[in-house]
Amino acid sequence: MSVERFLKLAVEAPLPMALTYKTTENFERGESVWVPLGRRKAAAVILSDAEDASSAKFEIKPITSRNELRPTLPLTFLRWLEWLADYYVYPIGQISALAFPPLETKTSSRKSKKSPVVAEVAYAGPPLLTDEQRTAVDSIARDIGFHAHLLYGVTGSGKTEVYLHLLEKVLERGQTGLVLVPEISLTPQLLQRFSARFGSQIAVLHSHLTDRERTSQWWSIVDGEKKILIGARSALFCPIPNLGIIVVDEEHEPSYKQEEKLRYNARDAAIVLAKMYNIPIVLGSATPSLETWQHAQTGKYKFHTLHKRVAERPLPQIEVVDLRNERQLQKEQRHRSITGSTVLPFWMTSRLKEEIDKSLADREQVALFLNRRGIAQTTLCPDCGHVFRCPNCSISLTLHGQRNLVCHYCDYHELISESCPSCKEGEPRSVGIGTEQVENDIHEMYPEARLARADRDEVHSRESLDDLIYRMENHEIDILIGTQMIAKGLDFPKLNLVGLVLADVGFNMPDFRSVERSFQLLTQVSGRAGRHSLIGGRVILQTYNPEFASINFARNGNFAAFAEFELNLRKEFRYPPYGRLAALRITDVTSTKASDTADKLAHRAEVLKKQNPHYGQIEILGPAEAPLAKVRGKFRFHILLKSGPQPILSPFCRQLIGDGDWMPSSTKVQVDIDPINLL
Ligand code: ADP
Ligand code: ZN
Repeated sequence: MSVERFLKLAVEAPLPMALTYKTTENFERGESVWVPLGRRKAAAVILSDAEDASSAKFEIKPITSRNELRPTLPLTFLRWLEWLADYYVYPIGQISALAFPPLETKTSSRKSKKSPVVAEVAYAGPPLLTDEQRTAVDSIARDIGFHAHLLYGVTGSGKTEVYLHLLEKVLERGQTGLVLVPEISLTPQLLQRFSARFGSQIAVLHSHLTDRERTSQWWSIVDGEKKILIGARSALFCPIPNLGIIVVDEEHEPSYKQEEKLRYNARDAAIVLAKMYNIPIVLGSATPSLETWQHAQTGKYKFHTLHKRVAERPLPQIEVVDLRNERQLQKEQRHRSITGSTVLPFWMTSRLKEEIDKSLADREQVALFLNRRGIAQTTLCPDCGHVFRCPNCSISLTLHGQRNLVCHYCDYHELISESCPSCKEGEPRSVGIGTEQVENDIHEMYPEARLARADRDEVHSRESLDDLIYRMENHEIDILIGTQMIAKGLDFPKLNLVGLVLADVGFNMPDFRSVERSFQLLTQVSGRAGRHSLIGGRVILQTYNPEFASINFARNGNFAAFAEFELNLRKEFRYPPYGRLAALRITDVTSTKASDTADKLAHRAEVLKKQNPHYGQIEILGPAEAPLAKVRGKFRFHILLKSGPQPILSPFCRQLIGDGDWMPSSTKVQVDIDPINLL
């Protein structure tokens, strides 16, 4: 008879820790089993041996049975799941559940009669690589062990072609590859390009597949039938055997961060996985995140550049229009309004109007971008463009009520002055504009034009996005009005004019990354205009702050200069990549409960920091009301934690929250390590 053993298990339940069970059977680490949990049966994965618990005060239950329908997870993969749980402060059992397909039954893709998830297409042979592409491929492929590589190159510079060549080499060695792309870029065109090269060796995972499709795609990779997995961020959780390379395209994309449940960043988690597997990882972008850029500058990541577009087309001209002048003009106009000249909406300059008139007369298309749907606001002096920033955090202050300026990171308050502290003349106020209002104004100005709006309210599914793209391509739309969600990868022959309506809002969101995001948006939208026009498209950027450094860097397409400028600011305020951040988000249906818990939590943080010299350098900012103070009936407060480069924030947060007994049961505290969204 075999002896009794104790094992640590990741049990699929919202429990903070792994649980101990006993068995006399010969289970291995990574195996899936069924265990009793309370009165129910729960799925679990064996993590490791546990200490002898025969004298424990509570009863240790035996494992019920093996779960034959799930494959054994590789040890390295298991170690990675444990890292995720530890780093992102999330229950290991709920993380291990992500490593399996939605359906327990093994469906084979070969038997499916439905149209395949990836269509096979004819293959014309790979293009001859340019010298720059060849250099990048050779130097990335040179060493097989772990290295993080940044492949920096504008859209159309041939990055995807580099990925394809690298994957070819990996397949030749008998290994497999993983390609992560933002959900929105996972288009049929992209898949066709991969399947043209690799035929039936491609599997795909994204959120628009049915459970059946997901399950069969998953198994085709895990069984080794398919060799390359392309997918959105969650594809990272597929335990791909024999992995030889990971590619993360558009590595700067905020959508790599999951904003619910397990708040992981797929790019960062992919780097950790590549390190554990000792394989290369390639991060590609035209506007890398400043974290990645900095690592490439210091040599932590290897740096590769594609300078030129493959088929060279002129980049569009960005014209910056000063809204302050326009204001002057409008004032004068109003004086003369007896003459009957119509006053333009405050956000529309005569320059932009002129260009729209011209485009419509030429039967071309126009796109107007806003930073965000709804009513994003920024407080500034409309005469001189002065914006109000927090002296502690360098983010812009938000106007509350008539006179209160508040920092949403540290809760700094100041009263807004009657006249601008900078020019002493203007009257500072909140400016902002939503997509709906722009649509209404445009409709009044151009009643004949066919309009479409693209924001999260209007475009909420892949189908509605595809439909919008179709209507743009067929010129069923004259003026498209939208948020940055339409900035990505769109390519319309008749679109030669792009207007950025109120650039200030983007540059001044209460978020330390707002300038970086705006730079990315500017680079993207200017890439949209005139893709097919030999004279290049036109971009009109309207702002109260034309001398703003980042606007000039964007206008000249100078990413390196922008990064240097912005990194200096980050350094001064210890923002990433110079320091680490964690956000604690406190929510409750009752405002006072949320704010009381936030106060208590901040107090506990101070005490914990004092007790433990190891945590001495952690800065506690807030509590403050979140910029989105109420969402779906819940009041939101947050606390920001800032530390130096050591990863001490995860254990700090775990200790800080403890068992949560000290707060009301209706209140929720979420831990967000390396937060991306601070609104
Ligand atoms: P990126 O991924 O940087 O946007 P792509 O790899 O998609 O760039 O390349 C842009 C276009 O140029 C694609 O149509 C691609 O097929 C083509 N292309 C890429 N590399 C070459 C090459 N070496 N020779 C000819 N065409 C190329
Ligand atoms: Zn502040």
